[in-house]
Amino acid sequence: MKCNIKYIGKSRQGITKYYCTVHKSFAYDKFGNKLEECLWHNKEIFDNRLNIKQNLIKSITIRYDNILENVVPKIIINDSEFNGVLEYDNSILTYKDFGGIMLSKLNNIPLEIVKCNHCGYYHSDNGKFAYTPHRTHLCLYCGRLFRVKEKNVGSELAMIYDIPKISLNNNMLKIDDYCCVEYDMLKGTLLVNNKSINKVLFKEKELDIVNFLNDILENEF
Ligand SMILES: [Zn+2]
Ligand SMILES: [Zn+2]
Ligand SMILES: [Zn+2]
Repeated sequence: MKCNIKYIGKSRQGITKYYCTVHKSFAYDKFGNKLEECLWHNKEIFDNRLNIKQNLIKSITIRYDNILENVVPKIIINDSEFNGVLEYDNSILTYKDFGGIMLSKLNNIPLEIVKCNHCGYYHSDNGKFAYTPHRTHLCLYCGRLFRVKEKNVGSELAMIYDIPKISLNNNMLKIDDYCCVEYDMLKGTLLVNNKSINKVLFKEKELDIVNFLNDILENEF
């Protein structure tokens, strides 16, 4: 699918901003020049779409094979790997949105229905925004900022699924250079190297699993 790049206004510093509405990504350089292609790197996933209202979804799992090396998870739907995006109504959801849900749930953040007042599409928060309630949101559909009354965190998936809390066992695991993280969204389970834990020993430091994952995924928005 080709980019659809639009001018969306200027930054506070006066730089012209462009946004690709197909890949939900910016498309300008630091001087404000329009790029030929937007900054989303694995664009092919947008060609493979699964409608989650028309298909029976029994389980949704994301798996980071080694989160220390690669922060792009695999999506597993009903036990088979799915390399694409999920859609329903006007929403298009990528692995980043699933990572966002995992972070919100780990941090016990209530997920709310948030709507952009420019384009009217719903909003999901990922990376550090998934665990930091905020008042000014960046709409990933139109690329513009919008404000809400109270600080919150948005999720489109929480509008259609009842997503449980993540329950963790009181256990610590030593992590060296391999860390597989598997999150079953509809069951609320999180496994680290196949174990349910709440702490890791990483580089000789004892860390809460929540802070450990927050830091690794903070820029995945
Ligand atoms: Zn694009
Ligand atoms: Zn919008
Ligand atoms: Zn937001």
